Amino acid sequence: MRLLLLLSAFLITSCSLQTSPLLSQNINSFENQEYQLTGNENPLKVRVTAVLLQRADGSGNYSKSRPNEFGIFQTYWQNALNNFQDLKKPSDLEGCYDGLDFWPKAMLVFEDKIIEVKNTYAWNHRNTGSIYEKNILKGFSPNERWYMKSVDDSLTLAEKDQPSIHVYFTNDGDTYDEYMRTNGANQIKNHGIAAGQFPTPSNLKRSSQIHYPGVYPKYFYMKNRAPQEFGKSWDKEIKDWYLIGDPKGLTHELGHNFGLGHANKYHGANKCKWTIMSQKHSDPRNYLQPTEIQKMHSNLSKTNMMQFVTEDSHYGTTQVLNKDQTWTELRRYYNDFVLQNGLRLRIANKIIMPTNAKITLNPGARIIFEEGGEIVYLDGTEFNGYELKADAKIIR
Ligand SMILES: [Zn+2]
Repeated sequence: MRLLLLLSAFLITSCSLQTSPLLSQNINSFENQEYQLTGNENPLKVRVTAVLLQRADGSGNYSKSRPNEFGIFQTYWQNALNNFQDLKKPSDLEGCYDGLDFWPKAMLVFEDKIIEVKNTYAWNHRNTGSIYEKNILKGFSPNERWYMKSVDDSLTLAEKDQPSIHVYFTNDGDTYDEYMRTNGANQIKNHGIAAGQFPTPSNLKRSSQIHYPGVYPKYFYMKNRAPQEFGKSWDKEIKDWYLIGDPKGLTHELGHNFGLGHANKYHGANKCKWTIMSQKHSDPRNYLQPTEIQKMHSNLSKTNMMQFVTEDSHYGTTQVLNKDQTWTELRRYYNDFVLQNGLRLRIANKIIMPTNAKITLNPGARIIFEEGGEIVYLDGTEFNGYELKADAKIIR
């Protein structure tokens, strides 16, 4: 127990409590343009970039120039991403969820890269304006005005039409050198606070960022000091705390970027110990309710998060439309459609389809484009995957 308490004490990177404007979740039929997951879809592939901030001279973080350590970071990073596809069924869902369904995968995989950015100002998260000693916490949450903005803009610009979620690995410039010199003797003060940025349904080109401080000093402490403190070996035990336990914090922040809060309609904040969205580092944190997985995918269909999904991502499923309907909301879809015999589908906004998708119009069906309506691929070119059965028509 003492070990557990100590462990959770130095793993404090819990992020701020925020409420999401996207938390409310209506279970809609497809008339409201909402794709309902079954749990058996092919995963969507989401682009994400780890940004290792370093000082101008290249010091102050993991570096590709030190391959052994860099390998540790690669494992940390991959574990954080892979957690979405390795969910565990809780033994008891009391207080967490009253559904009986369990999905082992969140149907999210990642096209990731790790880059190094030398920028002494951005590297130092003291420049957020927070004064940790006085418990003054401000500016550490990514937004459109925070101290990392110019770095974020330049990365977005360089990515052109392949934008990714940006995960910033920063450090505390005031304490870093002393911390490293002493192998983390003053470790608890040093970590800063992690935070992920909620999606927006109104600014679809807005970037999506995560602030994730202190990962490299934490490694340094766990490798060089924790073994004596805990009487455990790095190789046999402590390495797993760092590489299996700690990356759950990053998975949690990504959950925020996909639109998850700490609470949902089934439980309050930190009341379900199994969920990835618990802030307690001693909790298992390896589960998501199917409703939360649905929420993430819904946000990948209708918020700025859609721009990070690869253009050929496809659930491998077909949605059958059984009623006349009008689509007025901008959506990105990841499935094929079949419009049943004689039905009318009116399109009054932009609909984005995967490169390899098909829309089948059964006999007599009509797609009618209204003012402002279009079906396109992600790059804006016109969708051409229609299959028209007898008497089916597309009316522009
Ligand atoms: Zn959180």
